[in-house]
Amino acid sequence: MDPTELTLTDLRDAIAAGTIRAGDAIEAYLARIERVDGGLGCYREVHADRAWTRARDVDAGTLTGPLAGVPIALKDNLCTAWGYTACGSRMLEHYQSPFTATAVERLEAAGAVMLGKTNMDEFAMGSSTEASAFGPTVNPWDRERVPGGSSGGSAAAVAARLCAAALGSDTGGSIRQPAAYCGVVGFKPSYGRVSRWGLVAFASSLDQIGPMTRNVADAALLLGIIAGRDPQDSTCVDRPGEDYVSQLDQPMGELRIGVPRQYVRGGNHTAVQQAVERAGELLSEQGAQLTEVDLPHTDYGVPTYYLVATSEASSNLARYDGVHYGYRSEKAGDLLELYSRSRAEAFSDEVKRRIMLGTFALSSGYYDQYYARALKVRRLIRRDFDRAFEQCDVILAPTVTDPAFRLGEKVDDPLAMYLNDVYTANANLAGLPAIHVPTGLAECDGVKLPVGVQLMGQVFQEVRLLHTAMLYEKAAGQELPVPPLGGTDS
Ligand code: GLN
Repeated sequence: MDPTELTLTDLRDAIAAGTIRAGDAIEAYLARIERVDGGLGCYREVHADRAWTRARDVDAGTLTGPLAGVPIALKDNLCTAWGYTACGSRMLEHYQSPFTATAVERLEAAGAVMLGKTNMDEFAMGSSTEASAFGPTVNPWDRERVPGGSSGGSAAAVAARLCAAALGSDTGGSIRQPAAYCGVVGFKPSYGRVSRWGLVAFASSLDQIGPMTRNVADAALLLGIIAGRDPQDSTCVDRPGEDYVSQLDQPMGELRIGVPRQYVRGGNHTAVQQAVERAGELLSEQGAQLTEVDLPHTDYGVPTYYLVATSEASSNLARYDGVHYGYRSEKAGDLLELYSRSRAEAFSDEVKRRIMLGTFALSSGYYDQYYARALKVRRLIRRDFDRAFEQCDVILAPTVTDPAFRLGEKVDDPLAMYLNDVYTANANLAGLPAIHVPTGLAECDGVKLPVGVQLMGQVFQEVRLLHTAMLYEKAAGQELPVPPLGGTDS
């Protein structure tokens, strides 16, 4: 049995039962990365030696735990005390973190094996992974297309079977949108569910770390390991992590599904629209009640998100001054020049654009007009969801308007790129848990591309959300094939 064909849970079970050795699993993955990743660009760095050592410890019985021996990939904005944490940026290209992110520490404490760091849009700002300073990742289903972003490397690696699962981060959609483009499960937990300690900060009131996996059960397994209180992150709530897996099959009683009328409209690609309709049918066949709900402030989500996120980013990225750590310009004559040259030389245009937008929105005289107003609209968006959740338990919606777009199609049009977040950013603004579940492949412009749906839950109702996602996944009964990687590669 080829270990790369197994889901995270099945591989974990096979290693625990002794039918597959952890060393063989790691070898199979490393060999596949070697063979396939040159053409995809999922990994920024592979930590083969470290992975080997850990796998050997698992096989020797000195490393145990609920994830013993399973290979996992990490988005390159998760700090690790080994290798580099470059965050897709020249600014952090040679940055070696002195500490490891809590979420990663928890995976390692559970026995998992970290394979390496995956490519991403610089500082997680983007929707296509084209904004990485180290070149793009391509979509395994069609190499002319983007994998989505900013966790594009993680999504493509899961889809191409270059890891058993991955971690990503989601500030306005960066787990769910690439999951949608690559045909994998992408789960953004409630704000505060998972510690952000060791996640390079983009927009601190929105950022969350979450799992990217081949199915819902694997996402539940990883969430149970990484979730829960962490004294290092004061925004991480004081609730213990739950055993999400054992609750997946429990009966949950009545299930009311709300479909927001603002999310199912003319602008969606027909394949996306059909996926949502079909999901509604399947869930009602499972006994769910479908209702239409109203989220009237939906369209204010993107402008609100881009004010809040850029304001927070302008503040968070002030730490990159060429003095403390990160890139330092060789050409500076004095201190001010050191600041400005280091930042000018190491940040890309997109990151500079965001810093400027955010600094403007926070500047005196404009603060009330932009940032403070955005916070008020954020409140209205949250209130929309609170009202909708009086009528339903889980919201069913598209994750994206269209399947994956072509490389280069939107790089010169920041507004078109920002509009990618129309169905995802509001869950971040409201702090809700949300998941993308793939449905299958649809014919788009002559190629087969993944489509799926998004499910959003109430704050801290991850159990209910995952349960619904699992119900839907089972009813759809569709397992996506391995993308056609060409020749012997697939
Ligand atoms: N696409 C969004 C942005 O560019 C979301 C990014 C994210 O979630 N990290 O900001």
